[in-house]
Amino acid sequence: MSELIYFDNNASTKPLPEVVEAMVPVLREQYANPSSLHQFGQAVRHRVEVAREQVASLIGAESREIVFTSGGTEAINLALRGVLHGHPNRRHIVTTAVEHSAVLKVMEQLAHEGYRIDYARVDSDGRVNADQWSKLITDDTALVSIQHANNETGVVNDIFRLGEVARERDVPVHVDAVQAVGKLPIDVSGWPVQLVSLSAHKFHGPKGTGALYVRRRTRIEPLILGGGQERRIRGGTEHVAGIVGMGVAASLVSETLLDTAEHVGRLRDTLETGLLESVPYSVINGGGAERVYNTCNISFAGLEAEAILILLSEAGICASSGAACSSGSLQPSHVLQAMKIDERIAHGAIRLSLSRFNTEEEVDRAVQVIPELLSRWTTVTGSHS
Ligand code: PLP
Repeated sequence: MSELIYFDNNASTKPLPEVVEAMVPVLREQYANPSSLHQFGQAVRHRVEVAREQVASLIGAESREIVFTSGGTEAINLALRGVLHGHPNRRHIVTTAVEHSAVLKVMEQLAHEGYRIDYARVDSDGRVNADQWSKLITDDTALVSIQHANNETGVVNDIFRLGEVARERDVPVHVDAVQAVGKLPIDVSGWPVQLVSLSAHKFHGPKGTGALYVRRRTRIEPLILGGGQERRIRGGTEHVAGIVGMGVAASLVSETLLDTAEHVGRLRDTLETGLLESVPYSVINGGGAERVYNTCNISFAGLEAEAILILLSEAGICASSGAACSSGSLQPSHVLQAMKIDERIAHGAIRLSLSRFNTEEEVDRAVQVIPELLSRWTTVTGSHS
């Protein structure tokens, strides 16, 4: 089989070789518990603390503001649930219609528990409507949660502007930055927010490891109770190998952030231009907004995303439709629905998400193969004839 073309980096990225090399000795030899007081345990503790500094430095935080978790989903759950205790009398939450399911499912549960949830609308390019956003936040608002970059379209929100409105009302802000960290330069120290979720496997670190940034003096209750690890905010013996891998990934991606943006951005633009030129019924979703440089959400109007993905997979191209977890369902993505994209277009949307490991040759091959596959298919099925 010819080489796979991996265009599914928003689902997960390939760990950097240095990440794997750093993790193996931890698994093999540094197996002591980082909470143990003996020298062996303390050596392992040191590895965790170095990683904490590396992760903090990637986002402009102090290391004591980093709480390691089992990934983005846990960080988000901890942020949303943990901070509500700080404002027990407030029963209102504001978020957006285009959040990841890790946020939306918690919101659904909080609604069952009696919270009023408002979902800010987005425009046809997927940007949160800032005017509507500021009207939604009231003195009864206990928390707001907003995505930095959308996982399906790559559309980026203005965290300064949206966060500031909440800060003026003394409302804690959580940012789901899972798709932005490691791709965009981030300095949380200047952000008007208290909590930021991140996930190692989205920036060439290992799966099952993430972190929550908790600004100093933010009142937060743990979700997982146990041995008092992570400054009593997250119980449970740390996943040291994962944390070490995350730290290495953080420091390597921060060293190469701008070069990667340049390289991958060029590839993504070539891919988009090539596909738009050769498939007449194609359109970029979110194309009018600022987007993360690696993400291309393209619709082939009138076709079915799931069928396109199978064709691509058979040709060795890995892509997704919307969130990985919703692949396989025939519902158009909630993100494209919130953008009020016409159903015919939304049904034919696929996401091609690139990384530093992709090459010009892969993009050239995709630009040649995808239109051929689509035109063969439309000839057979009669679509667009
Ligand atoms: N938030 C966003 C925007 C995501 O894209 C993802 C993963 O796809 C998550 C949260 C969940 O992160 P994790 O896979 O680490 O649980």
